[in-house]
Amino acid sequence: MHASFLQTDIAQLRGVGPQHAKVLQKELRISTYNDLLAYYPFRYEDRTRIHPITALKPGDAGVQVAGIISKPDLGSFGKQQRLCVNLTDGTGTLCLVWFQGLDWMRKKLQTNSRYLVFGKPLVYRGKLSMIHPSISTMLTGRRYVGRLQPVYATTELLTAQKLNSRGIERLQSNLLPLAKPHISEALPDVVVQRYRLVSRQKALQDIHFPASQEALHQAKRRLKFEEFFFLQLRLFLVKAVRLGKPIGNAFCNTSLLRQFCQKHLNFSLTAAQQRVLKQIYGDLRSGRQMNRLLQGDVASGKTIVAFLSMLIPLADQAQVALMAPTEILAEQHHQNLQKYAAPMNLEIGLLTGSTAHQARKELHDRLATGDLQVLVGTHALLQESVKFRQLGLTIIDEQHRFGVAQRAKLSQKRMGTPPHVLIMTATPIPRTLAMTLYGDLDVAVIDQMPPGRKPVKTIHYYDAQRLQMLNFVQNQIDQGRQIYMVYPLIEASEAIVYKDLMDGYESMARAFPNISLGVLHGKMKRQDKAHAMRCFATGRTKILIATTVIEVGVHVSNATVMVIENAERFGLTQLHQLRGRVGRDATQSYCILMTNNEISPQGKERIKTMLRTNDGFEIADVDLQMRGPGDLMGVQQSGLPDLKLAKLAKDGAILQVAHEVVQSILQSDPELSLPQNKCLAAHLQANRCSSLWSKIG
Ligand code: ADP
Ligand code: MG
Repeated sequence: MHASFLQTDIAQLRGVGPQHAKVLQKELRISTYNDLLAYYPFRYEDRTRIHPITALKPGDAGVQVAGIISKPDLGSFGKQQRLCVNLTDGTGTLCLVWFQGLDWMRKKLQTNSRYLVFGKPLVYRGKLSMIHPSISTMLTGRRYVGRLQPVYATTELLTAQKLNSRGIERLQSNLLPLAKPHISEALPDVVVQRYRLVSRQKALQDIHFPASQEALHQAKRRLKFEEFFFLQLRLFLVKAVRLGKPIGNAFCNTSLLRQFCQKHLNFSLTAAQQRVLKQIYGDLRSGRQMNRLLQGDVASGKTIVAFLSMLIPLADQAQVALMAPTEILAEQHHQNLQKYAAPMNLEIGLLTGSTAHQARKELHDRLATGDLQVLVGTHALLQESVKFRQLGLTIIDEQHRFGVAQRAKLSQKRMGTPPHVLIMTATPIPRTLAMTLYGDLDVAVIDQMPPGRKPVKTIHYYDAQRLQMLNFVQNQIDQGRQIYMVYPLIEASEAIVYKDLMDGYESMARAFPNISLGVLHGKMKRQDKAHAMRCFATGRTKILIATTVIEVGVHVSNATVMVIENAERFGLTQLHQLRGRVGRDATQSYCILMTNNEISPQGKERIKTMLRTNDGFEIADVDLQMRGPGDLMGVQQSGLPDLKLAKLAKDGAILQVAHEVVQSILQSDPELSLPQNKCLAAHLQANRCSSLWSKIG
């Protein structure tokens, strides 16, 4: 069987001794032929050409030159010894410099011989030089055959076993000719032909030893496609398994929902809200477990949709839990939901880390008997001791903060008929990321704002223009408005933030001596926080000076200005979230970005983006481009699949195609049993323990 040859123990390969095998396994997790083949170079040195020395410019990327070398000159500057030789090619002279391995190098280099040299040109002590170039003798009279030299990542332990980049390259060149006949095509022929992909065989050959830039490009394109393809295929299959199982409560009683909409809802739902609610209702009544992601920009009206969704299982006497990532957000949800629930005589419990022991016990009891139907809380909800009589629906807010792993935990934890799951996120997730992270979920999007909103106007002031900001604030206060003023959490140092915050407070107190100010930060006691919030919400304080704790949890409609201090230090997504705290009704609102007089290019780009658009999805896309997905989602929590070549930020177009191809294949052959799709099942089988699959499968 073909696959089994590639599963051969790496120790069998020529050039790999038992010690090598051990280190390869330990350092790079390479234990089979297949693993080695899948260990791609991380860059290539362009040795296709030999450049004339006169054409070199300091700061160029690595280039190759050839020439005759002069007598090595061993000298020292202060304590540092160094070896210099001149390389001359008839067009110019280049100085080659070493600081280490001097004796060995001096013995190796032969004066007046011809060498091939690769390195980065720079100016050292006033001369065009290369520091520690790679160098090899060049046989005269032989035509030079250039190539792209693969460079493999390696480690100290490996290098000690002679497995530096060249060593790994040697192993690859030992393996490839043997392995090639056993590399079978993983994708159906029609797909390979339709998208003009090179074969898997050729792609693996060319990713290690590309004959040209074009060959390399094609190899990468093919392998990226394959990565995305199988990622999508796995996610679709997970979803299919879920949808195929008829487990899940069927809730179709809409009496409470209708009652609320007719009597107590004092606005009409947007078309987007109605559409999303219909989708959710379709899931709830289907008899299959719902797993739906609800996306919508800040203030697009997700909360009311969540509440209306709750009413469906509630009408059938089932219970509902809503889980939020922070205490403040849980409290905010609790408050908002209570407002909606009060006229329905519906009680809503709150359980967070700071719920007192006695109250907690009482909640537990009432949940167990079913006396309490709705519970809002933090992940305290996940604790063993929390048992529901019949949990029909779990709503999770701000999914990305929980991450894929926690989502999996949540679904493992439950027993009996699993509750329906609705995940809400206010952070727009770029389509590419949503596809890879949530491909196993159904997605609903609220892509429309409630009517009568005015887009927030965004203004940028440098510190030097602080007076303009203060005037603006004064003017708004004169009109009866209130102001948020936010300071960033810099690094992990609460102390510094606190100092910035207090300095800011003092300077604002000086600037506005007759106006009452409030302060809010994470270190404050619960009651003090609540007090500060209440004072602001009731209009007693006009300016609230805060850390990002207000990012979530505050909604004061009279507050129309969000001033963000040191805005250059915030990530885009966070800036957008903060801006979303204002502009929640028909009054014109403003977001003022204050920055240092000098900002980094990235900082500038973020500010520019904020000034250009209010569209959360567009902002999320820019954020993804700038930071990469790991950062965007929080590396640890992200559970991002390990893509080797493909980049979510750059290869969205390839992902899109792969997504569509998988979709259409599964539509016509959900079991992957047609002859042309057999290769897919085989490939899935052979690569079963891929990380994402094992996490969520
Ligand atoms: P999100 O949860 O998406 O951030 P919210 O549900 O908090 O948004 O809604 C923001 C504000 O908009 C709330 O005050 C809410 O009452 C109001 N709202 C929601 N939907 C509508 C609608 N269709 N028409 C008018 N106002 C709405
Ligand atoms: Mg909200």
